[in-house]
This record gives sequence, C-alpha cells and structure tokens, in this order.
Amino acid sequence: MGPLVVANWKMNGSEQLLQAVVQEVGELAETTSATVVLALPAPYLALARGFDNTQLEWAGQNVHWLKSGAYTGEVSAEMLSEMGVGWCLVGHSERRQYCSETDELVLAKTNTCLELGIRPIVCVGENLRERQAGKALEVVSRQLLTVLNGVPTALAPLIVVAYEPVWAIGTGEEASPETAQEVHEAVKRAARSKIDGLELRVLYGGSVNADNAKALMRMPDVDGVLVGGASLQAHGFRRLCEQVAGSV
Ligand code: PEP
Repeated sequence: MGPLVVANWKMNGSEQLLQAVVQEVGELAETTSATVVLALPAPYLALARGFDNTQLEWAGQNVHWLKSGAYTGEVSAEMLSEMGVGWCLVGHSERRQYCSETDELVLAKTNTCLELGIRPIVCVGENLRERQAGKALEVVSRQLLTVLNGVPTALAPLIVVAYEPVWAIGTGEEASPETAQEVHEAVKRAARSKIDGLELRVLYGGSVNADNAKALMRMPDVDGVLVGGASLQAHGFRRLCEQVAGSV
C-alpha cells in the first residue's frame, strides 16, 4: 500500500484554490503509489464532485454522529456519502479543543462513518503540558482505545489514525521523526493487541512541509502525513506530495 497524504484546509481556501490544487496534484496519484485526499470545508466538497477525471479523493473535516434531524449547521455522514466523499477527519484537536469533543463523541462519529462506508481518519495527540509531564503515550493510547473498544471489530481495518501532537499543529515546530516513530509504533502495537491482526495505518500531522516530509516518511511506522498550512498553496503542496511519494 502506498503512502497517504491528507490535506486539511480547515476553514481556509476558495474555489480558485481548489481548481489550482486539482490541476497541480490531480494527476500525481496516477503516476505514483501515493493516495492524496483533500479534507475540504463542506461547500467545496459539493464542488469537488465536478472533478470526475481526477485521482484525488475527498474527506469531510467533521460529521454529526446522528443520521439526520434538527441540528442546525451540521452535516451528516449520508450527505458526505452522497457527495462521493470517502473519508472524514474525526476528533481533530481543534474540534476537541474548541467544540468540546470528547473521546466518546469521537467514537460515536467514527461509528457513524463506518456504518456509511466512510473511512474515518481518527486524530489523536497530546498537548504540550501532557508531553512535558511524560504522558504522551498514555493520552494517545486512551484516545485510541476508546475508539477501538467501541467499533465493530470487522470494520476496524477501515480506520486510519493520525498522530497529531497538539504542540506541533500550526506552530512550525514539527515532532522529530524519532518522536513520531515512537508514538506510531506504540499506536500500532496497542491496536494489534486490542484487535488480533489489526494493522492500522498511522499518519503524522503537525507542521509537515515539503522540506521535512521526506525525513518523517523514512520512519518505518509513518504511513503518510496529514497536512494543514502547507496544503494551502498548490505548487508547494505538489512538492510535498512528491516528497512523500518518493517521486523526487
Ligand atoms: C492539521 O491541521 O491537522 C495540521 C497538521 O496543521 P499544520 O500542518 O498547519 O500544522
């Protein structure tokens, strides 16, 4: 399986940027083994449907845990699915922090995605205080196991985990490849011991750019990257994808 690059635009971007990224990166997936997924604000996901001759794949940035109802402002998994969206970020640290998403809510959203055949990208990661207190692995393992304890075993292989240390997101201070490797290895080990034979793919996220991507990808348990800021410039993002795909 080739590497996975997931771009998280957060609440950024424009129709023009979408066109530019599709043009720059769209055909890259045809010539490399990398899968490139764009996690876009919901309105752009509807537009993305129009790009039917691209290898790019699409992700929601969030989803409601219920199927439908009086939840103004929310987006359901069924709506994402109807738009041809195959992936969804779940439990991004910004949602945990600003929208009070708990581990249990992250589990509920993960299950909603799995029911609809949407592949959840479950984000986990410690904050600076937790890392300084030596609790990084404990926090990540709690976040991960809440999910793995509550999903149907048969669907667990659809989950991708993104290790995103909160202190590295948007700060320009990425985790070292060795730090990422240590956590990724622990995540995979915990997943295997929880569900026999489960081989989760684990992405690293936090200030990844075209200059540091290659060193991170050299680590044996880094299966791809989740990219915020560096995905908002089409040419730079292409360079990053090329580094990850090993095509340069
Ligand atoms: C993110 O939004 O998940 C992220 C990793 O952001 P950045 O690359 O900007 O640190």
